[in-house]
Amino acid sequence: MQLSETLVTYPGGATESDGMVIAVQSLPDGRQAVVLDRTAFHPVDAHWPDQLADRGHLRLADGTAIRIEDAVVAGSDGAELLLGADVPVRTGTAGWVFVVAHVVAGDAPVATGDAVTVVADADHRRRLSLGHTACHLASLALDRALADAWSKDVPPDALGAPGFDALACTSSRILENGSVDTYRVGKSLRRKGFDAAAFDDPAALAARVEEQLASWIATGAEVRVDVEGDSLAARRAWVCALPDGDATIPCGGTHAHSLAELGHAHVRFEVVDVPGAREVVMHTSVTPE
Ligand SMILES: [Zn+2]
Repeated sequence: MQLSETLVTYPGGATESDGMVIAVQSLPDGRQAVVLDRTAFHPVDAHWPDQLADRGHLRLADGTAIRIEDAVVAGSDGAELLLGADVPVRTGTAGWVFVVAHVVAGDAPVATGDAVTVVADADHRRRLSLGHTACHLASLALDRALADAWSKDVPPDALGAPGFDALACTSSRILENGSVDTYRVGKSLRRKGFDAAAFDDPAALAARVEEQLASWIATGAEVRVDVEGDSLAARRAWVCALPDGDATIPCGGTHAHSLAELGHAHVRFEVVDVPGAREVVMHTSVTPE
């Protein structure tokens, strides 16, 4: 199957795009994967599924709307098109072409060569974008709040604090207006000099993180996504122009345009001691004004 990379416009905030169908593939479950030359639809990446797929539909030239049931990153090495977790390599691997597969019902009347408009639910997207920006900001606030818990040097985060989030995060899920990040503090983190007692008082830690978030949000700092190209697999980064300096974090998701959009941020920790480790879940939520 000869494909070219899908051009994506969601990193800049687009929720609607015109494109052309370049491939339609039947799936084992009876549905079809529709590949377009360009799309505004954010797909889930099975290799780091933090931000889930947009909701929305394809609109054909005659006005027919086709619900997009799922959207996943798909890849081809020149043979077949593989979807989601079936892609054996990380997005961006050389020798592979990566596309957005819009999954629609098996009887949807769409064919290669059709001109289609992609329409993503803008309200849902906005809430995910606020949640994703809050997620990155909360990770930086957490790193800063935990800075005193380290006795050795570790790689710094985007603002120079010891990078707890990068070393300990095992999963990150973007919700509407929030996120859930899971951390594991085990032997390897303790060996790097981290004192797990930093989570002994989760409420006090949450208060410190919230205070930091509130002061950053009050700056109304600009948020943008820097791109090294328009293709799905191009490198992208979240950049937040904080007064302390630009914070840059590699990210394939969608975001707010300003921290002012986040309104009020709330953080809560769940701390569970399991054999050999302390598991910490950080729940972040924002209340846009
Ligand atoms: Zn991100």
